[in-house]
Amino acid sequence: MEKKYLTDDEAIEKLILTGQRMYERGFVAGSDGNLSIRVDDDKLWITMSGISKGHMDKDSFVKVDFKGNKLFGKGKSSSETMMHIKCYETDDTVRGVVHAHSPYGTAFACAGLPLDARNVAEGILQFGIVPCTEFAMPGTEDLAMSIIPYIKDNNALLLGNHGVLTWGEDILKAYMKLEALEFYAREIMLTRYVIGKERLFSDEDVDTLMEIGRKMGSKQGGRPS
Ligand SMILES: [Zn+2]
Repeated sequence: MEKKYLTDDEAIEKLILTGQRMYERGFVAGSDGNLSIRVDDDKLWITMSGISKGHMDKDSFVKVDFKGNKLFGKGKSSSETMMHIKCYETDDTVRGVVHAHSPYGTAFACAGLPLDARNVAEGILQFGIVPCTEFAMPGTEDLAMSIIPYIKDNNALLLGNHGVLTWGEDILKAYMKLEALEFYAREIMLTRYVIGKERLFSDEDVDTLMEIGRKMGSKQGGRPS
């Protein structure tokens, strides 16, 4: 794959827009969440810590290298910077990473339950299963390391007892996976726990949906059980 990166200005513009979307959709509260764009083989722009993702400007970001060293910017980079770096280091095709505390996805993460249902077509197309990690303390090396096994074969992950993480070939794709994850989680919540009834796909239908999803370019963390 040809390595093509956004310029610094382009990356910052997209980060501001994506942060606004996350905020407006209620995927982050207070200063929650963080997002980044890779702009070189070993450099990224990431949100600084302690700011609302709905009210960012060009000074809300820090440029760091893959060791976490600050190269440019006024503030301190997000406490989850190493988690973002691990996404980029593990999969060379990743250009954008989004971390949020979207309510439904986070509820499943706090229950320790992967998103695993065979009753909604879109969830299977987009993800198959969204895995859930064991809890790791936010802002630590443990959290950054815990996600590595999932990066190459997925585009989304529930961070146990914490929140959600998505990544993709650009920041828009990473953000769209966040929206799709939240839809999937909300749908499972409503059918399984509010209505209390699920009409399940047959094995054959699940296989067909998984196949269509793969053709659409979805990575799938497993076959819904
Ligand atoms: Zn978080």
